[in-house]
Amino acid sequence: MRSDGVATGSTISVGASSDQGETSNTSFITNDAITLTAKVYPDVNDVGEEGELYVVLRTTVNGEKVFSALNDGGVWEAWNASLKTLPSAVYVESLEEVEEILIYSGTMTTGERRMYVAYSLFTEEGKPVITTSLSPFKFEVTLPGRWRTESLEWIQYNFNQTEKFCDDPQGVCAGWTDTASQDCKDNYTFGILSKNTEFRQKYEKCINDIVFKPYVSKSPSRLIQGPLQVMVANAVRLQALGWDTPSLVEPVFVAASDVPSGLIDELKKGLSEAEKYLGRWGPLRVYVVGNLLEPALPVINDFCQKNYTGESIDYCINIDQGKDMREMATIYPGSNGFEQSSYGLDKPISSYALNPSSDSENLFSWSSGVDPDMEGSVLAHEYFHVYQGRYNIYRGGNESTPVGWGMPRWFEESAATYFQIVLGEKLGWQFRSDMDQQMKEVVNTVFNFRNRFPGVSIEDLETEAGTKRLQSYCQLCYGQVQYDYGLIGIRMLALKTSDDTVFFNYYKASKVNGWMKAFEIAFGLTVDQFYQELESLLRKPIPEQIEALKRK
Ligand SMILES: [Zn+2]
Repeated sequence: MRSDGVATGSTISVGASSDQGETSNTSFITNDAITLTAKVYPDVNDVGEEGELYVVLRTTVNGEKVFSALNDGGVWEAWNASLKTLPSAVYVESLEEVEEILIYSGTMTTGERRMYVAYSLFTEEGKPVITTSLSPFKFEVTLPGRWRTESLEWIQYNFNQTEKFCDDPQGVCAGWTDTASQDCKDNYTFGILSKNTEFRQKYEKCINDIVFKPYVSKSPSRLIQGPLQVMVANAVRLQALGWDTPSLVEPVFVAASDVPSGLIDELKKGLSEAEKYLGRWGPLRVYVVGNLLEPALPVINDFCQKNYTGESIDYCINIDQGKDMREMATIYPGSNGFEQSSYGLDKPISSYALNPSSDSENLFSWSSGVDPDMEGSVLAHEYFHVYQGRYNIYRGGNESTPVGWGMPRWFEESAATYFQIVLGEKLGWQFRSDMDQQMKEVVNTVFNFRNRFPGVSIEDLETEAGTKRLQSYCQLCYGQVQYDYGLIGIRMLALKTSDDTVFFNYYKASKVNGWMKAFEIAFGLTVDQFYQELESLLRKPIPEQIEALKRK
């Protein structure tokens, strides 16, 4: 077809391959080295003439169409679909009967693509008369993952009811793997999951037998805003009260009577080592809940009395953290805890409540000499949260936190875990203290996670809104992995700068600038650039990632 409508005797054929032309294909993944080739048979009247070849690509990503054209430097440039501005890809002094061109060779980003190849006789100026193939060559590039390679029992549920979470016309975004139990298939519910703790505990693990199609992410705004008035007022007040200056007051431990004293000693050792590294921040009260209800009650009482005033004390005991602490003592296995910054009090305090050591039967799994340093290491992690809280003086944004101020959960958590490992390594602890080993484990975990939930990254957890959006898609899918995923990111930042930058410089900058600006100041790159660098690291083969995360 010629752009001036005159009939032509030319034909054009296009091929795409990911094995250097062995076999032609129309479906690729982002890891593939894609080779695009074309054969142009010019009209007999044009053979021997001076000519030009053109290549145009129409890419559709999540419903949006973008045109790009290949220029003579081999680069795809954005094109406004006007023939006047169409760059030529190849200049040919004398057109042969067949012109074979290698259009492109390399990886491509995700999207549905249509490729148009054309030629024209060379014109010095003005619009060239372009001859192109009648129908474009169609191919698509997607994220890799198990959704593409495994035979799944697709779940007949429309995940795209409220918005587009995956690129499927019926909203079928996930499937059961062949390891899924019938119990899971019958009882696991989609949409917003039941709030009932025991139900959640029972079916939570079913998510491990589900594989998802690529997630359609939504990037949060990165236009940093100023703090709200209430935040500024809090900053002034907290600084006047010494919230952000080290404290001389010794930390106080309040423990339930069923907690073994040796365990408390380990916790104290961990806290004291963390204090040596980070300084003493307080007043701090540490509340240790055991595995029985009765002995937990006086601990809960003290917690609520010291962290609240007036009517809020009863609310704390009966409904809020009091309930959490009772559940810690009676339901939850493993070790749990939460940090509480009671910055609104006349004399602000930090508290930390934990249930350090219980097995799946809710019995103490701690005994002297078994897993030494574990409890201390965990408390060092938690103390890091207390430390973080002390640099957070612009408080009170809550739901409407201005862009750039609320520290993302992945950053908060993985920095604490990173601290735990660095401290353990420095002190020769036996628990979570071998950085290279830890990196090896998280790289594998995150690799598997990306295979099951392609397109989901820590960027999706940057804001509360983003977290809720992801939650409404795949529920607790990110729960286990957010710390691991973030930990790779923190390690990358530490290797780029230093551990001290991660533990000290960043917080000094964040106190006055909020997290996003402080991130740029401390690490020398924007949050956007960071996510891109992390993504390209995570696309590498596992051994290369592990190598890149070792200290040189
Ligand atoms: Zn934590």
